[in-house]
Amino acid sequence: MATNDYESGLKMLEELTTDAQQIQDQLLGEILSKNAETEYLQGFLHGQTDKQLFKKNVPIVTYEHLKPYIDRIANGEASSDLLLVEPLIGFSLSSGTSGGLPKLIPTTAESAHITATFNKLYRSLMIKHFGDINQASKRMELMFAKPDVETPSGLKASAVSTRAFKGSSFKAILPKLYTSPFETIFCPDTKQSMYCQILFGLIQRDEVVMIGSIFASTVVRSIKFLENNWKELCSNIKTGQISEWITDSGCRNAASLMLKPNLELADLIEDVCSCKSWEGIIRKLWPKTKYIGTVCTGAMLQYTAELEFYCGGLPLVSGFYACSEGAVGINLEPLCKPSDVSYTFLPNTVYYEFLSIKEDCVTDSQNQVQLNAMSHHEDTGPVDLVNVKLGQCYEVLVTSSMGLYRYRVGDIIKVTGFHNNTPQFQFVGRQNVALGVDMERTSEADILKAVAEAKALLDPLGLILTEYTSDGDTSSTPGHYVIFWEIKPKEGNNNNKNGKELDPKVMEQCCSKMEDSLHFTYRMYRKENMIAALEIRVVKQGTFESLMEYFVTKGASLSQYKTPICIKSKEALNILDSRVIAKFFSPRTPIQDN
Ligand code: AMP
Repeated sequence: MATNDYESGLKMLEELTTDAQQIQDQLLGEILSKNAETEYLQGFLHGQTDKQLFKKNVPIVTYEHLKPYIDRIANGEASSDLLLVEPLIGFSLSSGTSGGLPKLIPTTAESAHITATFNKLYRSLMIKHFGDINQASKRMELMFAKPDVETPSGLKASAVSTRAFKGSSFKAILPKLYTSPFETIFCPDTKQSMYCQILFGLIQRDEVVMIGSIFASTVVRSIKFLENNWKELCSNIKTGQISEWITDSGCRNAASLMLKPNLELADLIEDVCSCKSWEGIIRKLWPKTKYIGTVCTGAMLQYTAELEFYCGGLPLVSGFYACSEGAVGINLEPLCKPSDVSYTFLPNTVYYEFLSIKEDCVTDSQNQVQLNAMSHHEDTGPVDLVNVKLGQCYEVLVTSSMGLYRYRVGDIIKVTGFHNNTPQFQFVGRQNVALGVDMERTSEADILKAVAEAKALLDPLGLILTEYTSDGDTSSTPGHYVIFWEIKPKEGNNNNKNGKELDPKVMEQCCSKMEDSLHFTYRMYRKENMIAALEIRVVKQGTFESLMEYFVTKGASLSQYKTPICIKSKEALNILDSRVIAKFFSPRTPIQDN
């Protein structure tokens, strides 16, 4: 990026954040005037485009409300008649699910334009803080494309990142600016892909100035992978031959072009990797690295301690907030600690509104905002971007040229400040998410359904599941779901069943059954080893009574007490863990949909 380009990016940021209200109003006006005649908007606005009428008549909706329209488009009806006038280039697959399947978000050429503008602004900020790292240097970004899904109408549904990897401008800069060859990003086997991307990162270690991936969980997983495979990687570098188990032809071709025998490099890496502690390993292996670029907020905050251990003081840069629905925030202070990161909304991407949350967010001991489960919306209507209040929590609504009108993204944010006239926010959490060890979102209803299906397997054994709860365990990487079960015999409950008497085969089937009945994203992440095997921990009888006593001492009302479906408190988890009598893991990956 030339100096004047970078300066113009910073200038643009100032202008956008100063003129936020005007830009937002103009954007809404354009969206409405383009799309007022669609079947959806026509029903509420009768062809008019007035902002006040929009706020009065157009309902606030979730994906479920728009789904019938989106399904009709996916099945071949013209999108321009139904929801949005701009031609669709496909759908984005959101990590949220609806009825167990990923949400399909209509995508137009306009979204590519928004991404390009965002990239320009983001790069300008990075140059401001780290200099132009693209000069004679490379980024070791771990990137994994996902296969597209074709809808009955022939439109492709792809992950937003996969669409970006396929873009011609990305392909053009890839060999010069990134260590991963194109073929490794598109290798359908994630293990082979990760092995090769790390291998190519190692052989280009002298050029690497930035390491990252979209989410922190992937960076941690990659370092763990390296920890388990460095001897083999070094042997490949020594001989200049890639391992036989790398069967993907694209990966092998890339290796045949780039991998040459290099004894000296292999010895050096072996030396570094064989040291006792892996503290600061990233810095030792890639000594020119200036920062780790990866999202560390929200569900990813749980991975930052481990990442900090590996990166030896390198800054963790959580640069942006983005979602398939089009909302985009940018971190103007990339050097601040992950727990302090605030994002600034970009007012030119979508039209935002904010529904305030009645019960404020609480702050825990690590100064992290957390969503109070009892939050409710206030009766007041949603407010515009520039009218949010400092310190207040809100649910984000977006209206976009992609056919989403007053759409609840499902994210809760807390306003932490303003840059010019534009609010800055901390990401608080997702609504209705009980468990999430990576970017998957599992609701209480999902857990309930999974347990209901699995517990039926206990019936023929004369056992009943009396109580259960769950936890997302990220103490090892990848994280996994732990379901605590208290079991008793149907009759003769004095005859305590303990772990040894439980049939391990049946218990493992229970684990697998739960995984099979969880939603699409969970099963896909599990298959790709982004989530480890689900575990059932059987606890002694009476454990859930102790758990209740604990919650009562903490102020819960005994008469209204319900066992939480998911446990967040460390003390409560200790109560459960200290009474575990048996542990069982799912022995296979869950069944995938065709
Ligand atoms: P997707 O629907 O797959 O596009 O995922 C987008 C969602 O990921 C957002 O709605 C957020 O819930 C989450 N997300 C994206 N960026 C961040 C971030 N920087 N910090 C925390 N969560 C994020």
